[in-house]
Amino acid sequence: MLYLIIAILVFDFLIGRLLSILNARREKLPVPEEIVDIYSEEKHREQVSYAADNRQLSWLTNSLSLLLMLLLLCLGGFRQLDIWVHQWTEAINSPVFRDMVMAVLYFVILSVLETLLSLPLEIWSTFHIEAKYGFNKTTPRTFVLDQIKSLALSILLTTVLMSLIVVVYDYLPGWFWLIAWAAVSMVSLFVSYFYSQLIVPIYNKQTPLEQGQLREQIETFAKSVNFDISDIYVMDSSKRSTHANAYFTGWGRRKRIVLYDTLIEQLSNEQIVAVLSHEIGHYQRHHTLKRILSSLALNLLMFMLLGLVLHYNLFAGAIGCVDSLHVNMFIFSIVYSPLNMLLSLIGNYFSRRHEYEADEFALRNGKGKDLVSALKVLSANSLSNPNPHPWFVFFHYSHPTLVERIRHLSS
Ligand SMILES: [Zn+2]
Repeated sequence: MLYLIIAILVFDFLIGRLLSILNARREKLPVPEEIVDIYSEEKHREQVSYAADNRQLSWLTNSLSLLLMLLLLCLGGFRQLDIWVHQWTEAINSPVFRDMVMAVLYFVILSVLETLLSLPLEIWSTFHIEAKYGFNKTTPRTFVLDQIKSLALSILLTTVLMSLIVVVYDYLPGWFWLIAWAAVSMVSLFVSYFYSQLIVPIYNKQTPLEQGQLREQIETFAKSVNFDISDIYVMDSSKRSTHANAYFTGWGRRKRIVLYDTLIEQLSNEQIVAVLSHEIGHYQRHHTLKRILSSLALNLLMFMLLGLVLHYNLFAGAIGCVDSLHVNMFIFSIVYSPLNMLLSLIGNYFSRRHEYEADEFALRNGKGKDLVSALKVLSANSLSNPNPHPWFVFFHYSHPTLVERIRHLSS
């Protein structure tokens, strides 16, 4: 079993490497004619160098993480942590409560370690690579606060989810898969419904659109497609980087379109309305809801498999532990990753289709040309890859490539 786990980790790593090499080999290709106007020779050189810097960093990150996982697996690190959490909780009399505390401790310690180990690489990415190309606006203070907030949030979520899962398993092992799935789904539905009110404000300020010409133009368009303008917000993303974006989130009364303030800075009013029309397209075609429902279905599959693993105590023995709920769950998270990769391929495929549908909505509402020019400005400003390898796109891209979108919008 240990060999299977090692094989899965190595397989994951090799797939990542292969795709990255394929992508790198396409860098020498000329810029496609549709976007040659935004990639001057100098701009293209800058883009290639930015991509190379990022590739090296992710190669280093993935190699170190593989090496560390292999070392911890083979030298018994994960087993030792299991022994410690058993020792620390010896005094707890209630077996269910003890299982809960052990699982929370086990996963929280792993997530704190992961944060600490990835810190140097994140510092390098933000303050060296992003800064070198003029993208970074994060101050060391914001960076430190972000790290603390993210860690606190992940500890909170780990505690809630692990406690739920362990309590359900200990009390109702026969119906574990269904009840744990329902409980976890409730938490994730709650978080996604209140995402703009609960999660975003931890990091960013969101303000309604200011009065003025842009608001008037947006208002006219929003009215023409029956979208409520009070659901459109601007976010102060310029405090971290110059990268620009817009997104649609939530559903029902909590739906919201968020425009980055950097997007408003970089685009003309007509282009902003075109981007907005794409986001309204996501709303009109119920994309958020479809995504949430499909992730609930995938989670059900995951809990059915996890139920089997826990019932038959399949994985704990692989790293020398006798019968440990949290070790079974941890090893399951590794063994599940190839299936997860496969499912994310399907997810990305549908996400790219949704992007085309949202683009079509913009096109039907007369915003095709402005959307093309907006996408060009945003892609050039963020030095996005003009020639990604089709396999890389197939595996990793949630959006079609710029050239594909331009062709689709011009057809
Ligand atoms: Zn979109």
